[in-house]
Amino acid sequence: MLPIQLLVFIFGLIIGSFLNVVILRIGEKSLFGRSGCMSCGKKLRWFELIPVFSFLLQKGKCRQCGNKISWQYPVVEILTASIFLLIFNYQFLIFNANSQSEFASLYPIPYTLYPHLIYLWVVFSILIAITVYDIHHKIIPDVLVFLFVGVSFIGLLFGVLGEITWTNLLAGPILATPFALLWLISQGKWIGFGDAKLALGIGWFMGLIDGVSSIILAFWIGAVFGILLVLLSKVNTLFFLKKHFTIKSEIPFAPFLILGMVLIFFFGWDILGIKLVVSSW
Ligand SMILES: [Zn+2]
Repeated sequence: MLPIQLLVFIFGLIIGSFLNVVILRIGEKSLFGRSGCMSCGKKLRWFELIPVFSFLLQKGKCRQCGNKISWQYPVVEILTASIFLLIFNYQFLIFNANSQSEFASLYPIPYTLYPHLIYLWVVFSILIAITVYDIHHKIIPDVLVFLFVGVSFIGLLFGVLGEITWTNLLAGPILATPFALLWLISQGKWIGFGDAKLALGIGWFMGLIDGVSSIILAFWIGAVFGILLVLLSKVNTLFFLKKHFTIKSEIPFAPFLILGMVLIFFFGWDILGIKLVVSSW
C-alpha cells in the first residue's frame, strides 16, 4: 500500500467513526458533544475514540462498566475506509486510462480528481449510514435519503460523473415511480415510501440504464436472501437466528437497493443487455 492510500484509508476510518455518531444520533437534537458509553454513560477520553484501535485495545468492552460495545462501530469504520480506498483506486484507474502519460502518479492527487473523489465519498458515506440505520430501525431517515437525493441531483447538474442528458434527468422519477405505486397500492405494506425516495436518488446517481440494472439486481439479491432466510429458518439449523423468519417477515429493502447499486457502480454489469443493444444500433 502506498502512503497516499494509507492516508485515504485512515481518512475513511475517521469518517466511518463520524458516521457511527450520525447513525446513533439521528433524530436527536445535537450531533455534537462528547460520546459516552451506552450503558453507564461514562464520557469517552480521547484514546477511547480512535477508530478500530480503541475497540481492539478494550476488547470490545467499556473500561468502566465492562458492558459490551457493539461491533457495529469497528465494522462501519473498516467498511467506510475500504470503500473510500476502493473509490480512490477506481478513480485512478479511470484517470490513468484517460491520461496520456504512461505513469500518472498517485501523489499529489491530480486536482481534476478532487470533485469526483469528494462527490463519491460523500454519496457512499450517506449510503453507508442509510444501510446501517435501515437494518437497525427498518426505516430510512428522511434527512439522509433527501441528502442522497440532493447530492445526486447536484452531481448530475454539474456533470460530475458524465454528461447531463434528458434520459439521466428523467432516470430519477422513472425509477421512483414503480416503488411509489407499490407503496400506494399496498398502503405501505410491501414497501416503504423511503425506498421510492432512495430509488429517485439511485436514478440520478446512476443514470437510467445502470439505475434499472441496480434495481433488478437488488430484487434478485433480496429474493435469494429472503428464500435462504426462510429455508434456514425452517430447517432451524441457524442457532444465531433469534427470530423465526417467514415469507411475511419484514426485511429492510434499502440495503439490497444500495448493494445492487454499489455492485453495478463498480462492476458495470449490463444486466438486461441494454447497452449491448443500444451500441449495436
Ligand atoms: Zn460503560
